[in-house]
Amino acid sequence: MTALTDAEPGSFITLAGSPDEGFTTLYGTPATHLGEGERLLALGHISDRTVRAVTLAYHRRIYGHRILPGTELTNMTRTGTQRIWIRATRCDEDHDFTWEFEEAAASAPDVQPATTIDVELLRYEDDAIPAECPSCDRISRSTSLTTGPGREGWGHYHRCRNCDHQWPAVPVLRLTLTKRRQQPNTRSDNCFACACRPGYPCTGLCTIQPEPLIGQKLCSRCRAQHPASTWKQLAAVAYGTATAFDPHVEHRDRWLYSEALRGIPPEQAARAWQERVTLTTRRAADRDLAAARAERHEER
Ligand SMILES: [Zn+2]
Ligand SMILES: [Zn+2]
Ligand SMILES: [Zn+2]
Repeated sequence: MTALTDAEPGSFITLAGSPDEGFTTLYGTPATHLGEGERLLALGHISDRTVRAVTLAYHRRIYGHRILPGTELTNMTRTGTQRIWIRATRCDEDHDFTWEFEEAAASAPDVQPATTIDVELLRYEDDAIPAECPSCDRISRSTSLTTGPGREGWGHYHRCRNCDHQWPAVPVLRLTLTKRRQQPNTRSDNCFACACRPGYPCTGLCTIQPEPLIGQKLCSRCRAQHPASTWKQLAAVAYGTATAFDPHVEHRDRWLYSEALRGIPPEQAARAWQERVTLTTRRAADRDLAAARAERHEER
């Protein structure tokens, strides 16, 4: 049988479980997600105990999610796990993925054993890197996906349990296995800083116009949130200058904007963001190291 890299499009291959094929090896088991992450595919017929361990580790490492205990997790091994035989095929260049598979009889040629794990119903929470509230300094350990001022669309935000302040989290870049297309950072006619768009104004009479100071379109409500001097300072620390989607730039914009809303000068906010990036990167590295040690310990 043929390896992925040597195969002609359309021919059968044997998956080796390599990173090139999109697999991550956890507890000695190569695993990858299928589709948008509704199922995991692990190579080999693995035990219930390994199914559970690989699923928890995969979600933590790839998605940054902590799976919550409960009946959903119990049911996963009981009814959501299937040990099957698969036949994998090399896809051609136009395809979104480099390979695909079909289930086949154990006696069919070119098959290999695999385990599919249904993870769609699992409950989880974002396993965020702890961060201090910029307003009262209390630590927040979780984030949720929500909207906030400064950029249209959704982002990961901390919310302070003590003072209720909400601030954007520093993104921790994780290994992503699917190829992402480059997206422009705004749909051309929308407000750069909120969900306001032509035909769907955020307030009754809101209008959207180019703002030369930041080189982006803004709606009248957003524009009125800062005086011209603050817009100038925001532009001076590169707010709004991104031309392609990048979570770091996007969340920095969100941070600069919401800090300006509570009166923090953009230059000071930009320095504080840089410190947060450094701190978060260090905390993430420490945590990954601790988790890897725990995984090795459990494997014994
Ligand atoms: Zn607070
Ligand atoms: Zn707006
Ligand atoms: Zn508006």
